[in-house]
Amino acid sequence: MSDCLFCKIIKGEIPSTKVYEDEKVYAFKDINPIAPVHILIIPKEHISKLEDVNETNSAVISHIFEVAAKIARDMNLTNGYRVVSNCGDDAGQTVFHIHFHLLAGRKLGWEEQ
Ligand code: AMP
Ligand code: ZN
Repeated sequence: MSDCLFCKIIKGEIPSTKVYEDEKVYAFKDINPIAPVHILIIPKEHISKLEDVNETNSAVISHIFEVAAKIARDMNLTNGYRVVSNCGDDAGQTVFHIHFHLLAGRKLGWEEQ
């Protein structure tokens, strides 16, 4: 999508700090981290939100969880980590290109992220 912030990041039109990339997925550092480790993992294919995941496009979502586990192994996140995707207004979604936050490096409460 031409006016999507994360599509522009994938195309390199907006700078980002890359953590991982393959043909289906891109991962980069969140610009406003809420934990010592805060990485966003996104599909290169534009999907707006969790609600739009279906049997046609869900393969990339399972791949994202493989990538999250690989990043966690590579970064040695042995104390644990959280993967979360905000869907819609009540969850606080602000960018409508589906993304999975990988959070680690501190104790994570449940009433926040
Ligand atoms: P959400 O609120 O779940 O939609 O998450 C959107 C995330 O994107 C937030 O954590 C923002 O800090 C992050 N973000 C917004 N713009 C950028 C950017 N240009 N580079 C990296 N992360 C960004
Ligand atoms: Zn997009």
